[in-house]
Amino acid sequence: MDRISSPRKTKEIVQKYGFKFSKSLGQNFLIDQNILDNILDGANICSEDYVIEVGPGIGSLTQNIAERSNSVLAIEIDKTLLPILKETLKNYSNVEIINEDVLKMDLNKLVKEKIADKKPKVVANLPYYVTTPIIMKFLEEKVPIESLTIMIQKEVADRIQAKPGTKDYGTLSIAVQYYCNPKILLKVPPSVFIPQPKVESSVIRLDVLEKPRVYVEREDLFFGLVKDAFGKRRKTLLNALSSGNLKLEKDLLREVLSASNIDEKRRGETLNIEEYATLANNLAKRL
Ligand code: SAM
Repeated sequence: MDRISSPRKTKEIVQKYGFKFSKSLGQNFLIDQNILDNILDGANICSEDYVIEVGPGIGSLTQNIAERSNSVLAIEIDKTLLPILKETLKNYSNVEIINEDVLKMDLNKLVKEKIADKKPKVVANLPYYVTTPIIMKFLEEKVPIESLTIMIQKEVADRIQAKPGTKDYGTLSIAVQYYCNPKILLKVPPSVFIPQPKVESSVIRLDVLEKPRVYVEREDLFFGLVKDAFGKRRKTLLNALSSGNLKLEKDLLREVLSASNIDEKRRGETLNIEEYATLANNLAKRL
């Protein structure tokens, strides 16, 4: 029997149900079994694992997760996909479909109620229009997950994994690296999707750290400094931070930069996450 991901099967399902792809919901379905195997291998899914999938579509990734894991909770916003999923996944009793907008859900409550004290893994071919909000929701709300293995735009994956001093390094790199170890696993061309997206994609795994990478007394100050420093990334730190949203006085900034051993003429893009933490903690002492 054809797998859901085979191009022939996918086209057959789409035709049978008269399904119309929604661009605004980021619907690009995977039709390459090799890529699906790579995602599952990269996520290290085994028979003990509880998995949360965001956006099952017609179920091609879901089928693969269900075959390798203990169970799958799949959250799908589009109710026109529900009758399709009911049929395509009818042989998998370990799959539960939840018809919700993932961004509006209480994910901590979901994990508590459905998975109890186990830490699930998130696996998804994400809708690209909400890639960052979905990642940040899991991380900022401190949902107890082990990892996220996700297909996202290549450009976003590069920004997430970027190191200081590179053009891709920015607020997203720091926001994600604060909570996770990121690792890009593979690059994916548009040809493995129906319909084909306009951009290249990457699969990235984010292993969630037991506690944030650096200790910060006040996360609002830490992220506020990062945002201001990158808001004007061509300016020196002193100028960028004194004209940013935190509205910090130059005298106070000079004192805090000096106490942190950071030259005021450096630019924000050269500071690593530990230096931002030191800066934020020295600022917190003086406010
Ligand atoms: N997993 C399928 C695959 O790989 O073929 C489909 C992936 S497709 C890129 C993204 C899926 O996410 C679509 O099924 C779309 O309807 C769903 N989706 C979009 N926005 C969502 C949201 N806010 N919450 C839950 N699902 C969403």
